[in-house]
Amino acid sequence: MKKYSIYIAVWSVIFTCQCTVKNEGIIMTVNGPVPAGKMGITLEHEHILVDFIGADSINPGRWDDKKVAIIALPFLRKVKDSGCSTFFDCTPAYLGRDPELLLSLSLASGLNIITNTGLYGAANNKFLPRYAFDETAEQLASRWINEWENGIEGTTVKPGFIKIGVGPDSLSDVHKKLVKAAALTHLKTGLSIASHTGRAVPAFEQIEVLEKEGVSPSAFIWVHAQVEKNVTTHVRAAKMGTWISFDGLNNENTEEYLSLLQNMKENHLLGKVLISHDSGWYSPGEPNGGDYKGYTALFEKFVPLLKNEKFTDNEIRQLLVLNPQKAFTVGIRKK
Ligand SMILES: [Zn+2]
Repeated sequence: MKKYSIYIAVWSVIFTCQCTVKNEGIIMTVNGPVPAGKMGITLEHEHILVDFIGADSINPGRWDDKKVAIIALPFLRKVKDSGCSTFFDCTPAYLGRDPELLLSLSLASGLNIITNTGLYGAANNKFLPRYAFDETAEQLASRWINEWENGIEGTTVKPGFIKIGVGPDSLSDVHKKLVKAAALTHLKTGLSIASHTGRAVPAFEQIEVLEKEGVSPSAFIWVHAQVEKNVTTHVRAAKMGTWISFDGLNNENTEEYLSLLQNMKENHLLGKVLISHDSGWYSPGEPNGGDYKGYTALFEKFVPLLKNEKFTDNEIRQLLVLNPQKAFTVGIRKK
């Protein structure tokens, strides 16, 4: 009898968990799915390791996961101690994406860590492997969908978003192909598309490609939007549903970020803003991994500034908790 009631208890827990996941939606962390409602405070664009050697020379032998973990872990623990629970690692494949390193650091720090699928075309295609030029958008998408379905590079780790990157001007043919591949992957997986973009011209061109493929702009994150100084373009893209990522915050530029946020607030578009540091990281090839920068300006300097400037607790919660939750919850968003 006792055994029977334990069975019922266990099954009701499993059943409740499944329902919660179903109702709220999930994010995909390196450690498996997590209900989006449990993300808490989130850093939506950071890096733990970046290797700029280029797609033709990169290989995992260039760094030792254990040495990287010794350097990175104190920074991640500090993030956790600041009240943050979820950390998006935006390092793409061929720039040092390392799913096993991220998994071990997630377990050691207690942070939800999310990695990505996709290819990064910015920096004049230095980080694109040969096959990115030879294959069609459909073939590239099938590689990325395979990572979502079966895990990355033989691991159990699945991507939680699509990360691509394009140049600062009008889209080249190969970059258009990356955007189309991201659209096809989104329509199959429901993963959001974060694109290293910067300026408005490629931002709107990418939105156009996505819409042509039937993807809603609400599945698209305009990464490094702070690079675009014409802030009316932030408003225009956000009104279309695009997520606007201001992601280079540090202790020196908090006033600039305040004015970016004030512009969005005046236009009633705080609900489309994401904020992060684009900080880190361990650099293979440099002594002790180089100059690793932390991830706490947001908590130590920027949130106090926002409070001073009459941003309410609800608005701050929207920026740090609700917006990332909405932007990265796995779900197909059709035009
Ligand atoms: Zn970045």
